[in-house]
Amino acid sequence: MSGPAAAAEAPVVELRRFSKWYGDVVAVADLSFELRPGVTGLLGPNGAGKTTTLKAICGLLHPSQGEVLLFGRPIQRDPMLYRAIGVVPDGDRLYPRLTVRSYVRLHAELQGLADAGAAAERAIAEVDMAPLAERRLKGLSKGERQRTKVAGAIVHQPALLVLDEPMTGMDPGQRARFIELIRLIGSAGVTVLVSSHILGEVERLASQILVLVSGRLAASGDYHAIRDLMADQPRTVMVKVDDARRLAAGLIALPSTVSVELDGDALRARTRSVDSFATALPRLARDQGATLREVRTTDESLEQVFRYLVGRR
Ligand code: ATP
Repeated sequence: MSGPAAAAEAPVVELRRFSKWYGDVVAVADLSFELRPGVTGLLGPNGAGKTTTLKAICGLLHPSQGEVLLFGRPIQRDPMLYRAIGVVPDGDRLYPRLTVRSYVRLHAELQGLADAGAAAERAIAEVDMAPLAERRLKGLSKGERQRTKVAGAIVHQPALLVLDEPMTGMDPGQRARFIELIRLIGSAGVTVLVSSHILGEVERLASQILVLVSGRLAASGDYHAIRDLMADQPRTVMVKVDDARRLAAGLIALPSTVSVELDGDALRARTRSVDSFATALPRLARDQGATLREVRTTDESLEQVFRYLVGRR
């Protein structure tokens, strides 16, 4: 799979200070990045601007400001570039009565391929749907439907494949199989961009991750770099103790403590090091004659991680 003749060395996709607003809503602000072959994950909570970014890359919306380049050329002024893109959109608006084969063939015909039948068979085999090619879409599992959508998107062998939250609603088995398929497509030299709001999903899928928060790029790099950023994140530990006020004074004096809040007979401490906190806590309690009743870290939701990444920009 290869792209159209392009400026030598131009990245497959380049966003230059891309911004998009809808009326007063700023969906994406000043976003710059480059994509090259392989799988990149676009990670962000709901409303972060992922779909807006993907649509701009596919030429489906005009930037309010900035540029979106494919192979060094502005997508908006060059409809031929659309042939280099395959899209798996969000949602499930498939024709339920079509079979897998007729659905993929329809995509091949819409792309104007000379041998639509052969192209469809190749794409169906690539996503491992050949045994189910005569099944109707309405009877397929979520994982099978998504693999069929991928077959439709790659039937014309695009250089760029864009997938918007493709694994939503899949069970773990379907997800693992889908991840394997996307990695295979990426390792064949296709530039793949996949959005998701689930860190674990993206981590297994993509060699590069872009983290989008409130329309801005909060972090980028391989998943080790993102993980390292997250490892620095202060964690919240909830402690129930018989004399919370006295223990709070001791905890605030620890170098790794960021803050301590009292909440009735409990206290909530934010620490940069859960390990040193866990070592110091029993010693402090013993020194003060306090009895610990419960100690636990509160859930580190992805939203917290995103807020942290935004806060440190
Ligand atoms: P989700 O995961 O929920 O789909 P997302 O990261 O894909 O979110 P976008 O759909 O790109 O985010 O939306 C970014 C922001 O722009 C949101 O605040 C959204 O409400 C707003 N937005 C998107 N499309 C429009 C539109 N057509 N008109 C007005 N506001 C819009």
